[in-house]
Amino acid sequence: MAERKDDQWTKVPMQEQDPKERAKNFDEVPYGYTEEEMLQEANRCLSCKVPQCEKGCPVDVPIKDFIDELKENNVAEAANIIKSQNSLPAICGRVCPQEEQCELECVVGKRGEPIAIGRLERYAADWAMQQGEEEVKRAEPRGHSVAVVGGGPAGLTAAGDLARMGYDVTVYEGLHLAGGVLTYGIPEFRLPKAIVQEEIGKLRDLNVDIQTNVIVGKTVMIDELLNEMGFSAVFVGAGAGLPMFVGIEGENNLGVYSANEFLTRLNLMKAYKFPEYDTPVKVGDKVAVIGAGNTAMDAARTALRCGASEVNIVYRRSQKEMTAREEEYHHAVEEGIKFNWLTNPVEFLGDENNWLYGMRCVEMELGEPDDSGRARPVPIEGSEFEMETDVAVLALGTNPNPVVPSATPGLETEDWGGIIADEETGETTREGVFAGGDVVTGAATVILAMGAGKTAATAIDEYIRDKYGE
Ligand code: FAD
Ligand code: SF4
Repeated sequence: MAERKDDQWTKVPMQEQDPKERAKNFDEVPYGYTEEEMLQEANRCLSCKVPQCEKGCPVDVPIKDFIDELKENNVAEAANIIKSQNSLPAICGRVCPQEEQCELECVVGKRGEPIAIGRLERYAADWAMQQGEEEVKRAEPRGHSVAVVGGGPAGLTAAGDLARMGYDVTVYEGLHLAGGVLTYGIPEFRLPKAIVQEEIGKLRDLNVDIQTNVIVGKTVMIDELLNEMGFSAVFVGAGAGLPMFVGIEGENNLGVYSANEFLTRLNLMKAYKFPEYDTPVKVGDKVAVIGAGNTAMDAARTALRCGASEVNIVYRRSQKEMTAREEEYHHAVEEGIKFNWLTNPVEFLGDENNWLYGMRCVEMELGEPDDSGRARPVPIEGSEFEMETDVAVLALGTNPNPVVPSATPGLETEDWGGIIADEETGETTREGVFAGGDVVTGAATVILAMGAGKTAATAIDEYIRDKYGE
């Protein structure tokens, strides 16, 4: 193995596409580790007796054990260890906020940069995927079926676990492709859709029936699933796809999008491949994205790749309060996205045909902390100015869609729309109905949604065994 040129206290860098080049294409930004880079990084791990990193993993991946296998270049075994706890490792290796989870706890991080656990997970998962055929392990049929509402990470994880336990599982997905945010939200350059579809293919190998274009609460009701269609339980993983708006004048102008609509048109419906895909979207020349979370970075970087000459992130707080992953922010900066901190739109300006041409903005300063614990942004009097923009994308957060609870008697929700569910089991207020993921917590992360799907699968198994016997 070649000697590291830099010191042992920094992560082995992962090679990436050049920012100028990648700002014009949708190919994945980082290339992933080579074998040599993987070995160098794995060998930085101290193989701690009490691995602190594992405390930070929401799905309990045996991190030390899989890194130990990688040190010996036993990649197949490393991948099996990861998959014993995480059914979507190639996805998690790419999009999990490791810096706030496993890598935050890693002891090497106290002295230098923590072990790049996410990059190692990605290496093992990609390697295993390239090997192709996997043995499908399924228990004896249990003679019961379970319906899953929503084909995002929560629903897919619950479906996979239940199928492995021997249940007949049907996933009902409202869109024409399963994957949830992984398919319609996170762009190709961050998470290639072939990887998402490959993971979904494994569920089909487990005989999970995925029915697309079915909106539960409209096309079919939960009462029908339980009482007429023979399902013994239902898991609701319908996500939080209802966008929030600013509620200011001019928001109905043409050219003002919610990030959900903008990204769905571009990612799921491939508007970036127009005219090969016949999906219209106006990207515009000057684009403003309001918000500074992962969704905002994705929308901004997508707009840039679709030909915008200038993309501005407009955020009412400062960089310190930004919720996007540090890595996504750096990628956006490298690609030329401009950041307007402490700035808030107060009006969208439209021409005589209601097409957006600009935004009236106000500068902000930070005051006392608000309910979220973050400093409250306060407008600075007399600081208003106009920003030229022909497309504005609102990335202000999302809430659960009310379609399922409003059509399901006895399924109670919080005031903000989240389905009320027991944290330990996912049980809701309606017997036989379990829920988890963003539909319960509000917009969160892939790994937390997967964790909730896993917890609920175990609880559903117990519920069915208790109710119907072995
Ligand atoms: P979703 O992924 O939302 O899946 C829910 C599914 O249910 C959808 O497919 C929806 O169509 C379907 N559905 C809804 N209602 C019905 C119905 N009535 N009938 C049938 N189907 C229905 N998290 C990270 O960890 N890392 C990231 O980098 C990251 N980036 C993100 C970028 C964007 C643009 C967005 C929007 C989110 C991002 N997140 C990220 C958050 C993460 O994607 C979500 O927390 C996660 O996908 C939630 O999973 P879920 O299964 O609960 O819901
Ligand atoms: Fe390796 Fe860090 Fe985990 Fe220790 S805490 S086992 S050094 S990854």
